[in-house]
Amino acid sequence: MPRPILATIHPQALRHNLEQVRKAAPDAKLMCMVKANAYGHGLEHAFAGLRAADGFAVLEIAEAQRLRAMDWRGPILLIEGVFEPRDLEMCSRLGLWHTVHCDRQIDWLAAHKTQVPHRVFLKMNSGMNRLGFTPERFRSAYARLNALTQVEEISFITHFSDADGPRGTAHQRAVFERATHDLPGERTLCNSAASLLEASDEHLRGDWVRPGIVLFGSSPDYPAHTAQQWNLQPAMTLSAQVIGTQQLQAGDTVGYGSTFTATGPMHIGVVSCGYADGYPRLCGTDTPVLVNGVRTRLLGRVSMDMLCVDLMPVPGAGLGSEVVLWGKSPRTGATLSIDEVAAAAGTVGYELMCAVAARVPMVNDEEATPRK
Ligand SMILES: *Cc1c(COP(=O)(O)O)cnc(C)c1O
Repeated sequence: MPRPILATIHPQALRHNLEQVRKAAPDAKLMCMVKANAYGHGLEHAFAGLRAADGFAVLEIAEAQRLRAMDWRGPILLIEGVFEPRDLEMCSRLGLWHTVHCDRQIDWLAAHKTQVPHRVFLKMNSGMNRLGFTPERFRSAYARLNALTQVEEISFITHFSDADGPRGTAHQRAVFERATHDLPGERTLCNSAASLLEASDEHLRGDWVRPGIVLFGSSPDYPAHTAQQWNLQPAMTLSAQVIGTQQLQAGDTVGYGSTFTATGPMHIGVVSCGYADGYPRLCGTDTPVLVNGVRTRLLGRVSMDMLCVDLMPVPGAGLGSEVVLWGKSPRTGATLSIDEVAAAAGTVGYELMCAVAARVPMVNDEEATPRK
């Protein structure tokens, strides 16, 4: 018997979430961001739900190879571009688009021998100060690229630091616009938050939007909006079981450090999920959990392989009861957003979905056999 813990990916939820982005950004092409193994969902599982994309963006050549192996013939963008000259050969061979964010990448391209000229996305640092050419250096980078026989088409990309927050995107948009307005080529600016909040405006949406987190059913601007308010569905359910129970009396404590003390008689469940499965240890008492599809709470500290939950709100719960740590209860259809669990740990849904441990089997509910 395998240990009762499972991550289930829901391709139908991915389809639904992709549709929400299409509605929010009408006429924009969708470049689905599936880096980090599709935000921890497994690229193959995610692809099952994202075939309607217009393109995909990945971080690594290996991820691009996996997409091509699934027969994806459409656009694939290497979001940080190449890491060494040899990668350019793979770009030629696999027909990959790549970001160009620094002079070194242009030098490599200039020295690259290829029959197939490349499409590149010239990246501007419009204020985030991560990757990209500053506006002052952008046009000379463009001129250099434009003179290369290795380059067929140049598009423009920038990334927002505050699309989900009060600072917003206007300052970066202004910088980008000033430096690119007279250059020919497609543009891409919007991540998930900007796609939902701003891309209904055709002047703001660009040619391509680059949704990531929203596809996976997490709200890009939580807690300002919840996933439910954005009409998103969780693409992953992390589930486990009650494998032990205890009956407590007033004064009894739970777990390492005795951080929870019962104030009266109570029935608790011990669940087959711990921080070694990727459930955050920083989640404390009162973090929401679903047992048999009913919302209850975590008690005490999360340990390596187990955590404890309050069974008092769940009549009839006991050994073998289904526990959903985040996602959707197959039993009642109730959902628990990963955003709520992440908030309890002082982090964001992104980090939790990317951190599901390798020891947790992952399945896709439209496909019978488990696959990593
Ligand atoms: C990851 C990433 C995105 C997607 O961000 P979300 O917040 O997940 O939508 C968009 N653009 C770039 C350059 C990225 O690296």
